[in-house]
This record gives sequence, C-alpha cells and structure tokens, in this order.
Amino acid sequence: MMTKWQSARLNRLGSAIFSEAAQWKQEALSRGLKLIDLGIGSPDGSPTAAVMQALQEGVGKSKHYGYPSSEGSLEFRSTVAQWYDHRFGVKLDPHKEVTALMGSQDGLAHLAMAVCNPGDRAIVPDPGYPIYGASLVLAGVEAYPVPLLAENGFLPDLDSIPQEVLDSSTFMLLNYPNNPVSAVADLSFFEKLVYLGFRHNLLLVHDIAYSELAFDDFCPPSILQVPGAKDIAVEFHSLSKSFNMAGCRIAFMVGNENVVAALKTLKSNIDYGVFGAVQEAGIAAMQEDIRDGIGKRNALVYQNRRDLVIDGLREWRWVVPRPKATMFLWASVPDERTSREFCRELAVNTGVIVIPGDAFGSYGEGYVRIALVQEEDMLKEAVDRMGRFIQRK
Ligand SMILES: *Cc1c(COP(=O)(O)O)cnc(C)c1O
Repeated sequence: MMTKWQSARLNRLGSAIFSEAAQWKQEALSRGLKLIDLGIGSPDGSPTAAVMQALQEGVGKSKHYGYPSSEGSLEFRSTVAQWYDHRFGVKLDPHKEVTALMGSQDGLAHLAMAVCNPGDRAIVPDPGYPIYGASLVLAGVEAYPVPLLAENGFLPDLDSIPQEVLDSSTFMLLNYPNNPVSAVADLSFFEKLVYLGFRHNLLLVHDIAYSELAFDDFCPPSILQVPGAKDIAVEFHSLSKSFNMAGCRIAFMVGNENVVAALKTLKSNIDYGVFGAVQEAGIAAMQEDIRDGIGKRNALVYQNRRDLVIDGLREWRWVVPRPKATMFLWASVPDERTSREFCRELAVNTGVIVIPGDAFGSYGEGYVRIALVQEEDMLKEAVDRMGRFIQRK
C-alpha cells in the first residue's frame, strides 16, 4: 500500500466546493460553453494608481529586503489607527492594539491556536466563511454552530444559545456585513453582543472584511464603537475587498491588547511578516481613503452591479433580496432542486458558476451565493442565461 502522508485533519477542513466547481467548469467547457464565473469571491477590480505606485516605489527600496516583522511596521500600524479613527471614531494604540496580517485569512486561521487550548469550544455562524470552521479543526477546538436564519435577518438568535455554551466557550465569531448571506448588523446588535460577552466572559471576534462595500446610505459600524468593547472584542479588517488588494495579502487585527499580543506571539513563530512594499501600498490605500473616500467609490461599482442583477432576475421571476452591503447576492433556489443540484445543472447547462449555499454550512441549504465579480455586460449575459435556465425547468 502506498503511504499518502496526509493527516486526518485534512479531511475535516470542510467542503471542497471549489474543486467540485472546477469539475463543473470542465464539463461546461467540454460542451462548448463560455464560462461566466460568479463563484469565488475574488474582486475583479484593481487598486488605485496611487496604491500601485506606492507598491512600485517600495519594491525599489533596499531597506525592504531584510525580514520585516510579523506585527507590521509602526507606520503601517499607526495608519491603521488613523483610519479607524477616521472611519469609526475608534481610538487605537498602534503599539498594543493593532497587528498586521498576511491577509485576514492568516489571522482567522491562527487565532484559535493563539487563544484556545485543545478541547475548548467556540461559537461560529452557520452558514459561515469556511476558514472559521477550519481554524477550529487545526486548533483542536470544538465548534458550536449557531444558525443564521432569514426570519432573524440572518443575525444569530442570541437567546437560543444555551447559557452553558456561552459560559464554556472561549470566543464567538461574527461577520457583518456577512459573507455569504450578505446581511448587515447595526450598532444596537453589537451593544447586545458586548453585554453578552461581558456576562459570560466570552471573547467576541468580529470579521469586518466588507465594511467598505456598503450601499445606498448604509455605513457598517465597528463592534469597537460600543463603549468598553475593547475589553472583550477584536476585529479583523482586510484591504482585499475594500481596496481591491486581494493579491497583495495584507490585512490587520485590532482591539483587545491581550488577544493582539497572543496572535503576535504565535505569528512571530510562524512568519516574519508582510513585504514592506506591500505594507506601503496598504498605507497608501488607507491614506487615500481618508482623503478621497476610495472605498466608497469602489462600493458604487458593486451597488450598480447589485441592482442590475436583481432587477434582471426579477424579470425572470426570480426574486432576490437587495443587500445593503458585500459583493454577494444570497438567493433562494427558485425551484425544487437542492442547492448543489441547481448549481451543478446551471453550470453544465449555461456556463454560469455560482456557489451552493450548503458549502458554507447546513443552514445554507436552499440558497445559492452569486458573487458580483464581473463587469456589467457579463453580468447581463449571466442574468439572461440564468433566467432562461430557470424558465426551462
Ligand atoms: C475575503 C474574506 C476574508 C479574507 O480576506 P483576506 O484578507 O484576503 O485574507 C475574510 N473574511 C471574509 C468574510 C471574506 O469574505
């Protein structure tokens, strides 16, 4: 027998939806279809010229060719603090309350290892972004999933979580604006959470990757706007979606200084930080956002796409809620098929790739996630193909 050299935990890292979708793509291509990929949530836009210029200039500086530090340069952390103050009115100490990350994926993947012991418990949303569950598997932490249901506006029903679970869990993970369900939370929800966190000594971990991709007049709040929240909460922010920098791998975590210190300690054993030129590009993006609101401008692109797809699908009698934020639509499957059947058949019959909701957790069944990551004429074409497909059935 051949040894495979694969640990058992690899099998527990969650759904392999993106490799399954790759097979659907192959099948569609072999049938001569042209693909329109609305699957993976990777922004299709570019950073601004100033951001790319900062990166180019950074590459030419010889000081960046030694090891950086995993917490990020003081200049980067200070700019994060300025941006948080500008955007949320939250004051942060760049020495103690901010750390750089190689993408928020890096931080989310390692947080449980930094703050939990094997056998501990953490509360995570279902459906949820896949790394939340995977990071618990890596750390040997047990997940307590809380369903996000349409009838509750896709917020967790805090009263439904048993007291014993709240008392025995190390942290609770939240993500608003949310991927995949594209729901938003207001400050009063965060106030309730912070109260709950204090009562149960529960760390609140908020992933705010979509804070800048908000529409109409909605302005997503930070959990750290709640007075006292720093005693009990941390927040992950990413430059990937806000400023179209996903390929740069730059993000940060802010908030409770003990948790920041724990993650810094773990990461300083694992990596030596983000390339200095990339940090300078991140600084340029935050500064330009403070000056010119580039995040808001980027959001308008997605807002127009949102309206185009929702209005288009409505003409085919597929009614999809209009989200206040994110680059995703969370749509009920318009017929009797399961999420997976619907997505597979849509893919192989039309070439349009969307992701079945159950890939994000069992409470995602019955939904599909449509990522608005193509230009408008491609999205029009996708609406047309999807419309014909659901009519045919
Ligand atoms: C894209 C995404 C991230 C990861 O972003 P990076 O900073 O690029 O690693 C984190 N959380 C959610 C919910 C996301 O959608």
